This record gives sequence, C-alpha cells and structure tokens, in this order.
Amino acid sequence: MNVVIFGAPGSGKGTQSEKLIEKYGLHHISTGEVLRDHIARKTPIGQIAKTYINQGQLIPDSLMIRILEEILDNEPKAKSGVILDGFPRTVPQADALKRFFERRGQELHHVIGLEVPEEELVDRMIKRGQATGRADDNPETIKNRLKVYHESTTPLRDYYIKEGKYRAIKGSGSVDEIFNDIAKALEAAE
Ligand code: AMP
Repeated sequence: MNVVIFGAPGSGKGTQSEKLIEKYGLHHISTGEVLRDHIARKTPIGQIAKTYINQGQLIPDSLMIRILEEILDNEPKAKSGVILDGFPRTVPQADALKRFFERRGQELHHVIGLEVPEEELVDRMIKRGQATGRADDNPETIKNRLKVYHESTTPLRDYYIKEGKYRAIKGSGSVDEIFNDIAKALEAAE
C-alpha cells in the first residue's frame, strides 16, 4: 500500500504517520525531515534547502522530485509500501509521483487529507516551535508557509478527488480519534 498524508503545515501529518507506520508497517518518508537532515549535515542540498525553508518557501520542484525519486529507488523498504509525508506539495510533484509509480508498475492507493481549521494550525505550530526550537515554526515564517500552502498545495485536493484517491479526515480532536478515522477510511476504501 502506498499512501500520501496530505494537509497544511501543522495539520498533524508527522504524528499520524508514526501511527500508520506502526499499524500498517509502511516505510515513512518525510521530505521536511529529509531536508532538515541535509541542513544538519551541511550538505550542498542542505545549503540550498535552508534558504527556502527559512523563508517558508518550497524547494524548487526539479530538485525536490530528484531527491524523492532517489530515496524511493535506493531504499529497499520503500518497495513494499510507503507513506509519503509532505510530498507532493505541487501539481508538478504529483504528476512526477504518478509517473514514478507507473514506471515501476506500482500505484498510489490513498491520499489521506487532514483538514484542520487555520487558527488551530497556527496555534499548533507556535507550540511546536516553542517545544522543539524548529526554525520555521515562528509567526512570520508560518504566515508564508500557509500562504504557499493555499497557493501551491491546495489544488492537489481536487487533483486527488478527481482520481478517486482523496480520503478527507477531520484533523482536529485527539490523536487517537483522528487515527481511528484514518484507519476506517483506509479500510472502507480497500
Ligand atoms: P514540513 O516538515 O513537511 O513542514 O516541511 C518543511 C519545509 O521543507 C517546507 O516548508 C518546505 O520549505 C520544505 N519542503 C518539504 N517538503 C517539500 C516539498 N515536497 N516540496 C518543496 N518543499 C518542501
């Protein structure tokens, strides 16, 4: 099973991914974590990524697609099912993902869309910034990230509704309640 977990920054993609890994044994790829790891290791990709991330902008599609495809190709665990967290974030990324799976005779099965009211997103990210020190969880960058999300990423909701893959989930409530809804939606769609 290949799954995308989709939603605004702060919608709980990382938290719910952890639970999905546990229950379904999927391999988790968070593009945000991959980029933060490059930054921590001071790699050339990290140097480029840092400038975009700190401004709340997206890394250019061509680079992001190349990074993701390399991981999918080189990680043996990814072959038996992945949960993609934070990718795709643009229509060209979604098109590239579709072609990637097609070339390998695979497919994307479900897109879990975590839907959370905007005020709650901001509140969660501010709290996460205070708890973890994550550099882009500050009020100014959060504003840009949400703007970019509305402009570049929300069109993917319709994209995946049209493909019959979008499973809308109410993303506010307790972590376990949300997870139960996700599990039900995945099982109903099988
Ligand atoms: P995240 O941890 O998913 O919130 O991602 C943190 C930041 O990494 C984003 O604000 C972007 O700057 C960058 N990023 C992560 N995933 C992508 C992607 N698929 N396309 C472009 N930029 C990304």
